[in-house]
Formats: sequence, C-alpha cells, structure tokens
Amino acid sequence: MSDKKEKTLCALEKEGYIKSNTLEFIKLISPARYFCKNCGRSAVKEDNLCKPQQF
Ligand SMILES: [Zn+2]
Repeated sequence: MSDKKEKTLCALEKEGYIKSNTLEFIKLISPARYFCKNCGRSAVKEDNLCKPQQF
C-alpha cells in the first residue's frame, strides 16, 4: 500500500480508505480547520482537500 497522507479525502473515499481505516480517517478530519468548497468535506490539513478554505 502506498502512502496516503497527502491524498484528498475524495481520493481516500474512492479507495475505500474511510471504511477500512476509520480511526485513521478521523485523525485526518478532526479537529477540522479547513473545509472543501468543492465537495463540502472538512479536514485538519488543507492538503487533504481538493478546494480548501480555512474557517
Ligand atoms: Zn473536495
């Protein structure tokens, strides 16, 4: 398996990462500081969003 740290949440979801690595995924999204203006997801790091916006 390749390193997924800087992939977008959209890409991770397509790979099934959220279901298979739920606890790791939670670390990526909480505490959220950014959200994606494209898909509405939120994340700790802007690197994980396709269109990040800080809030
Ligand atoms: Zn997005």
